[in-house]
Amino acid sequence: MAHAVKELFPDAKAAIGPATDEGFYYDFDRAAPFTSEDLEKIEKKMKEIIKKNNPFVRKVLSKADAVELFNRMGETYKVEIINEITDDTVSIYEEGGFVDLCRGPHLSKTGRVKAFKLLSVAGAYWRGDEKNKMLQRIYGTAYQTKEELKAYLDFLEEVKKRDHRKLGKELELFSVSDDIGPGLILWHPNGSVIRRTIEDFWRNEHVKSDYQILYSPHIARLHMWEKSGHWDFYRDNMYSPMEIDEIAYELKPMNCPFHIDVYKSRLRSYRELPVRYAELGTVYRYERSGVLHGLMRVRGFTQDDAHIFCREDQIEAEVQNILDFTVFILKTFGFDSYDIYLSTRPEKYVGSDENWERATNALRTALERNGLAYQVDPGEGVFYGPKIDIKIKDSLNRSWQCSTIQVDFNLPERFDATYRGSDGKEHRPIMVHRALMGSLERFFGVLIEHYSGIFPLWLAPVQVAFLTISEKHEEYARKIYLDFKKYGIRAKLNTENEKIGYKIREATMRKIPYLVIIGDKEVSEDKITVRKRNGENIGPFGVGEFMEILKEEIDSKRQASQ
Ligand code: ZN
Repeated sequence: MAHAVKELFPDAKAAIGPATDEGFYYDFDRAAPFTSEDLEKIEKKMKEIIKKNNPFVRKVLSKADAVELFNRMGETYKVEIINEITDDTVSIYEEGGFVDLCRGPHLSKTGRVKAFKLLSVAGAYWRGDEKNKMLQRIYGTAYQTKEELKAYLDFLEEVKKRDHRKLGKELELFSVSDDIGPGLILWHPNGSVIRRTIEDFWRNEHVKSDYQILYSPHIARLHMWEKSGHWDFYRDNMYSPMEIDEIAYELKPMNCPFHIDVYKSRLRSYRELPVRYAELGTVYRYERSGVLHGLMRVRGFTQDDAHIFCREDQIEAEVQNILDFTVFILKTFGFDSYDIYLSTRPEKYVGSDENWERATNALRTALERNGLAYQVDPGEGVFYGPKIDIKIKDSLNRSWQCSTIQVDFNLPERFDATYRGSDGKEHRPIMVHRALMGSLERFFGVLIEHYSGIFPLWLAPVQVAFLTISEKHEEYARKIYLDFKKYGIRAKLNTENEKIGYKIREATMRKIPYLVIIGDKEVSEDKITVRKRNGENIGPFGVGEFMEILKEEIDSKRQASQ
């Protein structure tokens, strides 16, 4: 591609062009922006070069010779790169008269390229630094066969169709507003229904699983964040302090210290442990504006957080417990395949070797008992303890980091949390931090894309819509609509003076699972026919009978009606 660009646009300077998981890109410095017509021209030129089947020839040069070569070509970015290489020599590749600095390896000949496509152009700072010049990055991808390329391009189309920002607007789920600020999410009524449903489910299940639910404030004294170590280790992600009565306060980036404070509010005995505190805790973390992305990367979000205080001999059972619970929650939302990572002791750490070994073994044993395949990330644990990270796979087989389980030997020490042991002495509890969905905002974004906005009935903002054909059906429609509402089903009534075809289209666009059309026949027979969102008709049902059918599907939490 760089060869084609240089032939067509000799004024473009080549910067860097690596391969990525999805394909490749190359950054160019050029005054005029690349247009989509330019991309087509570049593709055409690339095909010509491929057809020539030029061999790729590798040469090794001394650094001085390489600097001279690229200086002569006017490729100043290459010269900058070469000057930073610590080896005495560098390798270059030549093909059809085009030369590039490259470590290799390469295909033997250009003709070996079988299927490729240029995808897009975007701005990118030289070396990713905002202080440097903005370059133009051309993205592309390549595959061994045309079929594989087509499959990938279809995948990209599907990703675009499911984009949660697009669906979020169409289905009136959420928005981000300039006046409120970037990275801060407004949940609209439809999105709020889904969130409330998720939260109710989450709370009920936690109470059943012997957690206690807490609430804590959004700010706390800076003094406490110094004590917790966040001000030292996590300051880059925290906002500037604010002052109240001449005392510095901070927006909270974490919930942990609050839960420790509750734990410490009275003396704890060994019989009382484990103590499990859970909170849907809203935190604020600084993210650069360039990385903010819809619901996926935000500045304020709610974690489904929990902290478990337990004895050393309880770690294994607790981790086992959390893993079972995690799998149950994720499965309920339709995620049943995961990538799991176990991160072990890093070079710098706190806590005794014995505790690290015990905790790491506990995590490992729990994973193995659950029959969960995992990879070990050696040395990737946090300084305060080992952890398990779970990435869920969505319906497009993309991975999303959601759940995390972290053992912590550090915070209980810093805050001097204790319990009275059976020996009557004070002991240090071990703390486990865990989040299952991670951030509700991000999890919601993943859910929207996973289901493509076609939510299972239990999550659907509107579960059934009643559409009247004319005014004379309104009274009957309103009566059964209210009956459904009373029964706890999220119903909607549309008596607008519109054609029924229009009303159906509108409801279908909103992906409402069931539509009930009310006309003469329904009113006279007191029976309803139901249209599913895939267009299939079911029924006729008695009103009560259909309510039961819906209730059953809602309770199952399964995706039944597409
Ligand atoms: Zn925590």
